[in-house]
Amino acid sequence: MGALSNHVANEKDAYNPVSRLTMKREPIPRREEEGRQGARSVAKAPPTLAGVREELGDCTRCPLHRTRRNLVFGEGSAGAKLVFVGEAPGEEEDNQGRPFVGRAGQLLTKIIDAMGLKREDVYICNILKCRPPGNRNPKEDEIATCEPFLLKQLEAINPEIICALGTFAAKTLLRTESPISAIRGKFHDYHGRKFMPTYHPAYLLRNPDAKKLVWEDVQKIMKIL
Ligand code: URA
Repeated sequence: MGALSNHVANEKDAYNPVSRLTMKREPIPRREEEGRQGARSVAKAPPTLAGVREELGDCTRCPLHRTRRNLVFGEGSAGAKLVFVGEAPGEEEDNQGRPFVGRAGQLLTKIIDAMGLKREDVYICNILKCRPPGNRNPKEDEIATCEPFLLKQLEAINPEIICALGTFAAKTLLRTESPISAIRGKFHDYHGRKFMPTYHPAYLLRNPDAKKLVWEDVQKIMKIL
């Protein structure tokens, strides 16, 4: 195995909840479809981000609420065309209640800048809204409890593209065992939406050579936006 492949294999690949998650993968309703249905049926209004946040409340649905400092819902534009999804808040995110604000987050901000965008133009969130203690990998019950809220956030935002940051987010959301090295850089489908997996900024801090691959991946996104 080459050096890069070794790093990729080491990047939190040991745990994969994919095969055990059984959640049905309905498409997230798109606005156009709702519009078409509107005349004939009483279309259900899409959720709003504020509504999803309210529903989440001071969440105690899984044990992570006992150890978190702050729930990290997500931030950015409610009308973003691009949503970045990471794994779970780290220590700094837990302290501040904001996603991607630690060292990896600063690199993500640079990537967004290099795309000609600002953090306020996109939306940034995680699969899990609460920090797993010691940054351990999310557990399958935690993902199963939290992912429906991610889906509602995506339904509220209605983005063109979802960019999954890192092997865990990509493999969990795509329900695949394939390594990130095999799935990154290509558009996949996530509940009817374009989904681009790429390396996590924390991985790039350890492996700066992979920055050029992430740049290739985000350029594919920029072509569509
Ligand atoms: N890593 C993540 O996956 N998400 C964050 O918010 C911060 C670091």
